[in-house]
Amino acid sequence: MSFNVVTDYVKVNRFTRPGMKRSATKAIVMHYTATPGASAKNERDYFNGTCIADRRYASAHYFVDDDEARLIMPEDEVAYHAHDNNRCYIGKLNGNANLTAIGVEMCIDKAGKITDKTFENTVQLVAQLLKRYGLSVNDIYRHYDITGKNCPAPWVSDTSQFSKFKNRVSEIISGSAKPASKPVVKEAQKKTFRIRVKASTLWYYNKPNWDAKKDTVKKGDVFTVVDTLTVAGSKMYKLKSGNYITANPKYVEVLK
Ligand SMILES: [Zn+2]
Repeated sequence: MSFNVVTDYVKVNRFTRPGMKRSATKAIVMHYTATPGASAKNERDYFNGTCIADRRYASAHYFVDDDEARLIMPEDEVAYHAHDNNRCYIGKLNGNANLTAIGVEMCIDKAGKITDKTFENTVQLVAQLLKRYGLSVNDIYRHYDITGKNCPAPWVSDTSQFSKFKNRVSEIISGSAKPASKPVVKEAQKKTFRIRVKASTLWYYNKPNWDAKKDTVKKGDVFTVVDTLTVAGSKMYKLKSGNYITANPKYVEVLK
């Protein structure tokens, strides 16, 4: 899928990132931001600024929008996302989901909806997390399931959306998801040019396929581009090394 995980930590502070290590990872807790039109970057900046200034205890690990998943603190630290009123209805979470779960927030569009793209990006992210921590789709909970809070509201009013989400994550994990049907389109390019990475970390791929992640590169790294492709609707650069990287100007800049 054509989205990136951007690492962009907020500063350690008592209100949004206490800097404490979590005891275990037993679940993924799903949220929505309840802020129409705010991007993952906007949310990150809020938790690094206004939220602290307002002395409000709140946060999460990931914020997902149509373009990216933004990780605002290390996964193994405590975020304040799922222990309101000191509740924890799920027994296996040891009485406090903030100590035993990773919090994933979905951004919403101006109309208050979780878009299809955000939904799909979140599917990809959560599938990766489950694989990494050896968890299953039965370890995904709504904030609502943990404490009764109306979050993510669109998945509380319509539980089938949450079921659909878990089914999609299952498909990705089991590898039964249908391959992207859109073709790889190559653009004519006579000359090579160079790009520099703007994101703090960025995936590159060993095939012109958004699922063919190979490793990450760092901010400031420079590469030579030999071709520009459109892969499943999003642009990708082919590098001189034979690897591929996103052409999204949010993450890479072309050097003159
Ligand atoms: Zn929530």
